[in-house]
Amino acid sequence: MNGLSLRDVVVRYGSATAVDGVSLDVAPGSVVALLGPSGCGKSSLLRAVAGLEPLAAGTVSWDGVPLAGVPVHRRGFGLMFQDGQLFAHRSVGGNVAYGLPPRSEARVASLLDLVGLAGYEPRGIATLSGGERQRVALARALAPQPRLLLLDEPLSALDRALRERLAVDLRAALLATGTTAVFVTHDQDEAFAVADRVAVMAAGRILQVDAPADLWTRP
Ligand code: ADP
Ligand code: ADP
Repeated sequence: MNGLSLRDVVVRYGSATAVDGVSLDVAPGSVVALLGPSGCGKSSLLRAVAGLEPLAAGTVSWDGVPLAGVPVHRRGFGLMFQDGQLFAHRSVGGNVAYGLPPRSEARVASLLDLVGLAGYEPRGIATLSGGERQRVALARALAPQPRLLLLDEPLSALDRALRERLAVDLRAALLATGTTAVFVTHDQDEAFAVADRVAVMAAGRILQVDAPADLWTRP
């Protein structure tokens, strides 16, 4: 199986089981949302894929190669969180160019264009709205062309109208770059707007995985 494969993944915190035997395949170029209520284990599962949380059991593989023992920075995955984690003392351009080779101005410009911030390079992070910051964070996450982008509630700090718009733009940016992604959210509308397939989670397990249009129609 190419892309990401999870088999019977278990994550525990002491004696508490946060992820209770999850199997999931994410094909290259596709976007999968992990959807479920707060505390159901979405974030723990994403962190386990990233290598930030050890597996108590199961395997995480990329293109059929198990990633056990491969550290976070060697997995070739990108991460984006709710607060974007931008460098406050750098310009927008400096944030997006971080980790790119010198003279990547054209690439930075095209990434900013892709997220709807054409010409924002010289702006300071402090002058941006919350939505603009998350757009910069997305451009920065896409810049190194990660083979898999992991997004943990990237829009949840924004108000609803902004979230709806950003979800649509985020999907467009992922499709335009062909980026494979796993997107964590507790918001059904957001999951449906962003993902090709939605994995519904509850109490540490995946209950169902389907395309948004098919999700509630199957018996
Ligand atoms: P979600 O992302 O769906 O909100 P989490 O993966 O954050 O769920 O949490 C799943 C469960 O694991 C929750 O009961 C949470 O309290 C617990 N949990 C998460 N992180 C830790 C941790 N570092 N230590 C102990 N328990 C944790
Ligand atoms: P998210 O908003 O992604 O669900 P949380 O707010 O659950 O994340 O967790 C934020 C941080 O706190 C994470 O590092 C997580 O591992 C830790 N954490 C979450 N729940 C617990 C818990 N019950 N006990 C200890 N640490 C926790």
